[in-house]
Order: sequence, then C-alpha cells, then structure tokens
Amino acid sequence: MSWSYATHYVCDRCTADFSLSLPLNTCPRCGGLLEVQYDLQQMKQDISPDVFKGRGNSMWRWHEFYPLKEVENIVSLGEGGTPLIKSVYVAKELGMRNLYFKNDTLMPTGSFKDRGFSLAISFAKELGITKGLTYSSGNAGASFAAYSSRAAIDATVLVEYLANPVKKAIISLYGANVATLHFNNFEEITKMLELAVQELGLYQFVNFINPIRHEAMKSYAYEISEEFSWQAPDFMVHPVGTGGGIYGAWKGFRELKTLGWINTLPRMVAVQPEATGPITRAYQSGKRKAVKHGDSSKTIAQSISGNAPIQDGERVLNTIYDSGGFAENVSDAEIVEAVRWLGHDGICAEPASAASLAAVKKSVEDGRIQPNDTVVCVITGSGLKQASIIEQSAQVSTHKLNATISELEALIAQINRT
Ligand SMILES: *Cc1c(COP(=O)(O)O)cnc(C)c1O
Ligand SMILES: [Zn+2]
Repeated sequence: MSWSYATHYVCDRCTADFSLSLPLNTCPRCGGLLEVQYDLQQMKQDISPDVFKGRGNSMWRWHEFYPLKEVENIVSLGEGGTPLIKSVYVAKELGMRNLYFKNDTLMPTGSFKDRGFSLAISFAKELGITKGLTYSSGNAGASFAAYSSRAAIDATVLVEYLANPVKKAIISLYGANVATLHFNNFEEITKMLELAVQELGLYQFVNFINPIRHEAMKSYAYEISEEFSWQAPDFMVHPVGTGGGIYGAWKGFRELKTLGWINTLPRMVAVQPEATGPITRAYQSGKRKAVKHGDSSKTIAQSISGNAPIQDGERVLNTIYDSGGFAENVSDAEIVEAVRWLGHDGICAEPASAASLAAVKKSVEDGRIQPNDTVVCVITGSGLKQASIIEQSAQVSTHKLNATISELEALIAQINRT
C-alpha cells in the first residue's frame, strides 16, 4: 500500500508526460494545462473504502488520491470534512425530498478555497518553493495567504478592483502582500502572470495554471459518496468561476467509478451570474469553448463574476457535457432570495454560493430536476465576508421595547400576528 498513488503529469494538449517533482505550472513544451495521473489499477488491488474509516475528519484522510509524497509536508488548518446537511426549509418550499447542502462556509478561512490551498501549499512546500503569486476576487487570496504563512512561503495576492474591503483586509491579516490590480482586459493579466513565472520565478496559484489546487476538490466526491454509503447523488450543483471546484469534484467521482466504489456518476450543474456567465453561454449554443462575456461589476456574486474563462473554459464544458449535466445563469434577485432561503436552513452564505440554490429552484420549476432526485448544492463561502448583502437579503428588525413584562408580552403578540 502506498501513501499516494499519483504517478506523473500529462499535458491536456500535447499529451507529454512530466515528473511530479518538477515545479511546473503549465506545460513547458506547449503551454497546455497539466493534469495529475494516478495508478488506480494498483489502488484498486491495494485498498477498499474501509481503509478510510477511523481516520481524522479533514480532507487529508483521502491522501492516497493526492500528489503529495510526504506526510510531514502537510499544511493543514482542519479543512474538508464539512457537514452534508439535509434541507428542511427549502426542501419544503420546492417540494423536494432529497436536497442537501455541503456546508463549506465552515472552512478555516470561510470558503471552500481552503481545500485547494491546503493541498497546493503543501505540495509547493514539498517542492521547496518559497515565493508564490495568485490573482483573486478575495476568497482565494485569503486562503492562499493563510496557508502560505503557515508554510513560510512569501505570498503576493493581486486582487480585483471589485474585491470588497473586508476580503482585502483579511488577506493582509493572514500575512500576504496584497495589491489591487487595474487592467484593461484579462489578456493583460494572463500575460503578466506568465511573465511572473518566467522572469521572476514566482510559482503560480491561479486555478488550472496551478495544476494542484483542483486535485483537492476531488474530496467532495469522496466525502459525499461515503456519506451516501458509496453512492453518487443524481445532481451536484456548483457555482462556477474558473471551474476548479466543479471540475475537481467530477474528477473525484470518475476515480471512484473506475475503482468500482460507486456505480453511477452525478450530473454536474454549473451555475453563473446572468451579468457574465461565459460558460452558460457556450453551453447554450452547444460549444466546447467559451469566450469572454459580460461585465463583472454588474453582479453581487463577486466570487463567480469572472467574465474571461481560463483556457477557453474547456475543462468545465467537458465536465458538463460528459456528465450529462447543464449550465444555468441566475440573476442577483434570484441569488438574494436563495441567500434568505439558506438562512432559514441554518446557513449564512455569500451570494456566489447561494447561486447554486437559485439554479436548483429554476431547474425544479422547469422539470430538469425532479422532486425525488438526490441533489447536492455546494455552499462555497460564508456570508460574513460580504455582510452588506446579508443586510440586503434579510429584514433588519426595527422592533424596540422597554424592559417591562407588559411590553414584552405586547411584542410577542405583535410578532405572532405578523
Ligand atoms: C472561488 C469561488 C467560487 C468559484 O470557484 P471556481 O473553482 O473558481 O469555479 C464559488 N464560490 C465561492 C464562494 C468562491 O470563493
Ligand atoms: Zn503540452
């Protein structure tokens, strides 16, 4: 039995192989995206799902599925292993019997990005990397900063001009260098990030350009399948920015199917804001490549507002088509309603996360999702980092009273009437 079954990288585009001990971002030959490969045949012979019983509850209990070699290099704040909550309130509103929320608002820095950065930073530490760079709308920067500090990696975070001040402050709090980036088009950023690797030797942590982050998102598949007694749900619904989350989860489910631990695969649903939605737009016209579309400043769903897909969005579109899923856009008004609904199910979510629920509502109404289907919505980030939207989504109480029992009695009577 091995601690990790990862073997090598393969380039998506030119299919060249590379060693995992090289500090690579994209393919050194053609610039394509790299993908970590595993010896699943060997793994199938060596282990069964029982191996994972009795291990700790973080995402590191699945270490066989990651490319890290040595246990000493793990940089962890207790990420993964979040609750899978069966909906009570929303399920009733929508007449659904098997609606679940994977509550990643509870992650160490408040978003699901921690899964990716725990693995990517551990891996960078193992490679001896000391300086890193990422571009972020806020949550990735916070997560990158926290894990980098723990690994003594010098982190630089370039945030979008749209990033809210709380998120920027959190990135500094965790100890990274942060600067707001002004640019005319996304191509400028891509070019600059490329040169940062070539000329400044900065290892990159942008999803997909960094070949490791999405490997950790496979942990959704493992955690959810285990919780359903080694069965996949019918639908997995993800808010999609770069697509690292949805693509990683899909890779995890495919691995489990190859291992013979689950029999079916979920349909993967990608959710984006109406203001941009480049992936949805490509999906609706049957394309496998997406182009830049829309205005990122026109939605409250900041964490998924990117309008320029990485490498044409091919990985996300393949995930949708190959799984028999679909892509959907949601409006800010629909997102605000979903934030409120999640609140009534005990979850305080940021708008981008609530987008997945808004899409479920639409899909149940038009029959793409049936009332009996098992549906898992990934709730990717905490509402506390975007508190202004919580105030906008929920009513701020105006009730006042003096501390007397008669006023309390009157208040209760009044509340019960409304
Ligand atoms: C980053 C982020 C997303 C989008 O994830 P991708 O992997 O870029 O598709 C969704 N929700 C929240 C809260 C995020 O921070
Ligand atoms: Zn290549």
